[in-house]
Amino acid sequence: MNSKSVSILAFLSALFFSPAFAGKPNILFFFVDDMGWQDTSVSFHSSETELNRQYRTPNMERLAKKGLLFTSAYACSICSPSRVSLMTGQNAARHGVTCWTLRKDRSPERPNKKFASSQWPLNGLQPVDSKITRSYQSNTLPQALQKAGYRTIHAGKAHFGAQNTPGADPQTLGFDINIAGCHIGGPGSYHGDKNFSAQWRNGEAIWDVPGLEKYHGQQINLTEAITREAISAVEKSVEDKKPFYLYLSHYAVHAPFEPDRRFLPNYKDEKWKAHQKTYASMLESMDHSLGQILDTLDRLKISDNTIVVFMSDNGSPGNNPQNTPLRGSKISGYEGGTRVPLIVHWPKITPENQRTNSPMIIEDIYPTFLEIAGVEMEQKIDGQSFTDILKNPTTDRSKRPLFWHYPNLYHLPPYSSVRLGNHKLIHWHLTDELELFDLKNDIGEKNNLASQQPQKVNLLSKLLGNHLRETKAFRLTKKSSTSFVSYPDEL
Ligand code: CA
Repeated sequence: MNSKSVSILAFLSALFFSPAFAGKPNILFFFVDDMGWQDTSVSFHSSETELNRQYRTPNMERLAKKGLLFTSAYACSICSPSRVSLMTGQNAARHGVTCWTLRKDRSPERPNKKFASSQWPLNGLQPVDSKITRSYQSNTLPQALQKAGYRTIHAGKAHFGAQNTPGADPQTLGFDINIAGCHIGGPGSYHGDKNFSAQWRNGEAIWDVPGLEKYHGQQINLTEAITREAISAVEKSVEDKKPFYLYLSHYAVHAPFEPDRRFLPNYKDEKWKAHQKTYASMLESMDHSLGQILDTLDRLKISDNTIVVFMSDNGSPGNNPQNTPLRGSKISGYEGGTRVPLIVHWPKITPENQRTNSPMIIEDIYPTFLEIAGVEMEQKIDGQSFTDILKNPTTDRSKRPLFWHYPNLYHLPPYSSVRLGNHKLIHWHLTDELELFDLKNDIGEKNNLASQQPQKVNLLSKLLGNHLRETKAFRLTKKSSTSFVSYPDEL
């Protein structure tokens, strides 16, 4: 073969094997923990808020300019249910993992004089063949993508199954690679020089972040360490010519609140409390990671064949600055607990620099990613693909109800709720109170319309009650009568 035909062959094989021609697009899910709707310099509200002006997230701005921003995206109000919904496509009422998980066979719930806990699956998500009691066993999103030829990469926080169960290890749930994920929902420390462990402050070893020993003793932030490892895994996948699903699930910006020393000097305003400066540095650190990832896609020339989705798993906790205009915080049934940032860039499909008010909820990610990857759905799920919104941001979804269910006795009151169109009904389990809000005119949920609009209350109560019956949702028991908490349409 002469040198000319060798170079033609090399050109043709490069063309054929280049990731852009490999058929299936790469999917990158950039998942932030406990980041509120307003905890960013990107405006998700109809006007810029004070927090938008205070925080620095230039790479979120960069992604938003490229893609579609969702102003009405929702998750569950706490970590584990959001993550199980994402993995299974099921609504929290159906999978039942409605509160956070950690220790095997132990609930984080607190005793209550009047109500008793349910038998909810406190051991979290488990593989279908596991023998773990009180768990939800299901096929998963990464398993489906794995079967379709994707390399499935888990980087960061897993928090799917309880300690010492199979589901604690992401590799039992469809991930080929696991970087730093296990049963924990928060890291012992963000500092490499503290070995990412809480033991230096006499914290328990149960919070130790696994698998990053090579960074122990170094002045490196956990977010940076996870990003570097994730980038290496992406490079290897591109080198091996495999489409990838990167689940880059940062521990940030969840507690413990420890500053990222690289970014803390950017926040010097003397009027700010130390906690807000720390939190702002964690947000900027997370955003810096997003920038590194977007740069990597550009450097590897795969930006045009990689879908990037940015999302948070629940609202900002109560100790962070309030996400005004929203009411409530993480774990709450109000919008501050459930409404989250979402930005999607699907090259050549999503319109550039646009916004949509069409609502979606976290279980919708599962069917959306399978549709984008061209993978057949194997199981019946609650989630609905939102590729229609990605293609047309004005898609009308006002007839699609969204449901939340949190029947647990933790530090905020248990509730179930439904949003249909602009209206949202909340049933508070401990008081049997119903609240009705018009989110279009009252995003802060200040005006309870329940007594003024009984027909709307009836409609939404029936919808919610039927959903809870159909999904066989777990409910608290009233100790006085040993009967379950009522369905909203029985009140
Ligand atoms: Ca969370």
